[in-house]
Amino acid sequence: ICSKYNLWFHIDGAYGASVLLSPKYRHLLKGTELADSMSWDAHKWLFQTYGCAMVLVKDIKHLFKSFHVNPEYLKDIEGDAEHINPWDIGMELTRPARGLKLWLTLQVLGTDLIGSAIEHGFELATWAEEALRELDHWEIVSKSQLAMINFRYTSDEISEEALDLLHERISERILASGYAAVFTTVLNGKKVLRICALHPETTRDDMRTTIHMLDTFAREILADMKKQNS
Ligand SMILES: *Cc1c(COP(=O)(O)O)cnc(C)c1O
Repeated sequence: ICSKYNLWFHIDGAYGASVLLSPKYRHLLKGTELADSMSWDAHKWLFQTYGCAMVLVKDIKHLFKSFHVNPEYLKDIEGDAEHINPWDIGMELTRPARGLKLWLTLQVLGTDLIGSAIEHGFELATWAEEALRELDHWEIVSKSQLAMINFRYTSDEISEEALDLLHERISERILASGYAAVFTTVLNGKKVLRICALHPETTRDDMRTTIHMLDTFAREILADMKKQNS
């Protein structure tokens, strides 16, 4: 569509672009090579501390044309299309070397190891899904994909509104436990729990324990809610 109508094709790869480093799952991002530009957060799935992110562009001259400035006080060190200064391709003039930590990570770990760490994230969501499927009352709202999974406790004993509240309470309880942070989101108008775990050292047991804790909390809170209603 973009090439037909001569539009700029930008990909918001903040989270997902990292999958390009996984040989196993790279095919999911087929088509990204067609983009004119892509944003990519290293402080997400490239395991960097905040904030370290990038915008990749097919032709750097576009950035130069947009951001290039040549005030009097920069005359002596002015760049040109061949010798581009960092301040010519972004909004900042003075800026820290945010990319240094990513560069170091790439040097030390290499893209193969980072790729397998990313694949581990896919597994974490699969393990969560597997644990959920063994339990009653849990509905998988969106199957594990790209290291994410959304799910929901179901019960015909309480109203939809009360179910939404139940999920908020479950999230509060697991956060307060200090074991894991599982937050909610809304899908198709219903509150769901959402896990996006990426840590390379998180294990299958960690995921199973998290799901079992959620299940225990769900049943305890539901019992309390029913007691209050009666
Ligand atoms: C996280 C995220 C953003 C926001 O990026 P920040 O680095 O937090 O500013 C935008 N788009 C998507 C798809 C994201 O996952």
